[in-house]
Amino acid sequence: MKKTIAVLAGDGIGPEVMDVTLSILKAIANKYDHSFEFNEALIGGAAYDKHQNHFPEETKNICEKSDAILFGSVGGPIEQMNQPKWHNCEKNSILGLRKAFNFHANFRPVTIFPELANICPLKKEIVDQGIDILFVRELVGGIYFGEHKTKEQDGVRYASDTMEYNEDQIKAIAHAAFQAAQKRKNQVTSVDKSNVLDCSRLWKQVVTEVSEKYPDVSLKHILVDNCAMQIIKNPSQFDVILCPNMFGDILSDAGAVLPGSLGLMPSASMNNQEFMMVEPAGGSAPDIANKDIANPIAQILSAAMMLRYAFKMPSEARDIEKAVDTVLSKNYRTGDIWSDGNIKVGTKKLGDLVCSEITTL
Ligand code: NAD
Repeated sequence: MKKTIAVLAGDGIGPEVMDVTLSILKAIANKYDHSFEFNEALIGGAAYDKHQNHFPEETKNICEKSDAILFGSVGGPIEQMNQPKWHNCEKNSILGLRKAFNFHANFRPVTIFPELANICPLKKEIVDQGIDILFVRELVGGIYFGEHKTKEQDGVRYASDTMEYNEDQIKAIAHAAFQAAQKRKNQVTSVDKSNVLDCSRLWKQVVTEVSEKYPDVSLKHILVDNCAMQIIKNPSQFDVILCPNMFGDILSDAGAVLPGSLGLMPSASMNNQEFMMVEPAGGSAPDIANKDIANPIAQILSAAMMLRYAFKMPSEARDIEKAVDTVLSKNYRTGDIWSDGNIKVGTKKLGDLVCSEITTL
């Protein structure tokens, strides 16, 4: 099969973990006789250096001509945020891509690798019950995309942000969540704040209506504050957690600490045409960039998500996941997940190990 992939490595650790991931995709292409064409394009600070724009037209055109977008990370050091190169870099790049392609659904799996259970910050007896959650987050609506206003009246400063949802937006993300649950444990937990917000009351109503089309999937509703507690207290109760934009942003970041490092968390965003962008959940980690110490697993597993969901290549995706599991079971670790008794390796070495497992699987 021939596939064209827009490769947007970005800033910080992005290019390092992307290099490793492309080698792994090449190993998969060789093994399965696929042809992957990688079209590299600039994004974030790297794009700003050349175009004075974080998301240039040239990059958008390359994405439009591709079958999927493989994104790294963008942004500079927090203390340099006022420099034009880094000011609003993440917002212009990521919200720009979301808007340009109407990526309305975000999927973020949170699982604990059995070999890494010891670095999960929760108690062992909680981890032992198993953690395997898929956050499905609405990505282009709600308060982040409503009107934002700041004003001053009679010497008093005011600010307001409008939260708005229409039923079509809710239906679209609810269908995505129920269909994802059908491929997992057939359970959706829908998050709202329906005791306070009209948007949440509409959300709850529409999600319930959509659920009638999926009789094989059970539906529970949960208030966002309780959900935040339950993710920490009893995460094994969840399968798919369906969230509006802002709640999903916050809750999925709470979930992100469970595996033990941001370097382990892949994610994918999709539009109505099933066009997809995959990316690690973490940022550009400028504190560890260019040192060959970043964990490439989040980027590698993002590529596996691209193969499984965008290209419908489940065996190829599984090969990558198995290879990562095997490398971890042989005790190889980057610094962020290393503990006594493990073998510490760099970004590139870990990638090489995954590549060689793929060829022997
Ligand atoms: P960050 O996610 O980059 O880093 C947070 C911490 O996690 C750091 O200590 C970092 O070293 C560590 N970390 C992250 N990924 C890692 C990996 N693969 N391996 C090992 N350790 C890893 O968040 P931050 O420091 O708040 O932000 C840095 C920059 O990233 C900012 O400019 C921010 O705007 C940007 N950012 C970008 C994205 C994105 O591109 N999707 C997301 C979040 C933040």
